[in-house]
Amino acid sequence: MKVDHTASRRSAPPSFTTPKSLPEFQRVFPDEGSCAAYLYAARVPAGFICPYCQTQGQPYRFKNQPDMLRCRVCKRNTRLTAGTTMQKSQTPISTWFWGAWRAIPRECRPCSSRSSWA
Ligand SMILES: [Zn+2]
Repeated sequence: MKVDHTASRRSAPPSFTTPKSLPEFQRVFPDEGSCAAYLYAARVPAGFICPYCQTQGQPYRFKNQPDMLRCRVCKRNTRLTAGTTMQKSQTPISTWFWGAWRAIPRECRPCSSRSSWA
């Protein structure tokens, strides 16, 4: 009996497709530190200014808490996520970024030809 391996392989269900942009996302934000760095640049574009003593300058940074900034003068802590939804959450910044990033293309899709299906 002859078995056509080519045909069986062809009829097999296609393997799941990873979103093309996921590797791109992971390349840009591979860890918490890179997310925090982006957040830092977005939130304090002109440099860190301590909200307590108004001292301007590079704050202390912590490897295990990438969103934490400590004033070099008064030693008080400020979080990059302060004043945002992320502040109250224990969710890693990278998770927030991933969720927010995924929401963008989904929001944009109705603008495309897909709207004609509605
Ligand atoms: Zn300070």
